[in-house]
Amino acid sequence: MPPQSTRTKVTVLGATGSIGASTLDVLSRHKDRYEVFALSAARSVDSMLDLCLRFKPQFAVMADPFAAELLEEKLRGSDIKVLSGDEGLCFISSHESCDCVVASIVGAAGLVPTLHAVESGKRVLLANKEALVMAGQLMMDAAKKSGALLLPIDSEHNAIFQCLPQTESGVEWRGVQKILLTASGGPFRQSTIDELRRVTPERALKHPNWDMGEKVTIDSASLMNKGLELIEACWLFGVTPQQIDVVVHPQSIVHSMVSYDDGSVLAQMGNPDMRTPIAHALAWPERIDSGVAALDLLTHSQLSFEAPDTNRFPCLRLATEAAEVGGTATTILNAADEIAVPAFIEERIGFMDIASHVENALQKIPAVAVDCLETLFETDLKTRELVKEAISRTTVAVST
Ligand code: MG
Repeated sequence: MPPQSTRTKVTVLGATGSIGASTLDVLSRHKDRYEVFALSAARSVDSMLDLCLRFKPQFAVMADPFAAELLEEKLRGSDIKVLSGDEGLCFISSHESCDCVVASIVGAAGLVPTLHAVESGKRVLLANKEALVMAGQLMMDAAKKSGALLLPIDSEHNAIFQCLPQTESGVEWRGVQKILLTASGGPFRQSTIDELRRVTPERALKHPNWDMGEKVTIDSASLMNKGLELIEACWLFGVTPQQIDVVVHPQSIVHSMVSYDDGSVLAQMGNPDMRTPIAHALAWPERIDSGVAALDLLTHSQLSFEAPDTNRFPCLRLATEAAEVGGTATTILNAADEIAVPAFIEERIGFMDIASHVENALQKIPAVAVDCLETLFETDLKTRELVKEAISRTTVAVST
């Protein structure tokens, strides 16, 4: 094994989630290239303990201070330092010994540590959508200033990255006409509006192709996930919503495409397994083994494509409109969805109500320009309160 100093030191934010697990699987295949510098989790102490014993990071951060205390107790006598809260997360994502940060905390909670990693000029593997959806301008400005390398590991954005013209520092928009962002269409692709109104959380939580966390799975079923990805793509690749077409592709084999001025369309294909985009982004511009088998085209001879229906899936329309408005509109969209989705999982609102609550928030709260994090957090909080209040009002109305 090469000396420690030549290996890339990786911080995994959100280590106990599904992206975290995929990342650690890829890293464990390349112990000669990578070492785990730090891990973070929200509050799953036991899962974190397992990971700490297996990967022996220098730091382990629990977002929840009480969980941090428990973990510290269990790790007593080891060399692993336990930290907590936002402070701990920012410490491990901007630490000078860390080379690469995998940003896979789900939701708005991932924003600040991700921004810290970008400001510190790290190689940042971006899985946290909210960082760009809420603070795209701040994130991209910070990357430009620090020279951070932003590499998307969301499968679609990673595919787009792979299909765009490559440069030494990333990709460029040269000779390119459009991005074709693919969507699986989710489990209710063929459901009528009436059926969609009666969708249960149990059914929505079963995604046909990808194994993901609860929030992302519901967002995939409502196509909000695709809307957030469209916003993300606008920032990452410096384009407008008009330069992106969403294409429904139920088999999730083509992960996205780029069409060129000469009529060429480049697609990135592969088995739906997050380890492929993660391995790509870890090693770019090199290629390493990800543990994913090569695609067998003969077993996937049927690839189909169709247009999305924004009448049945209004979340996609709302996200596109928010991207066009810009400023804090996408922050409002995201915050409203983050409140509405758990309310749906808890059966306090219906599936179609997710979009209604998001639309209501977008209409009620005026979008303003994003100048600093405070503006974002203020808007985020105001939106959450408005949606919570609206949901409790409807819930009371139903129960009486
Ligand atoms: Mg995706």
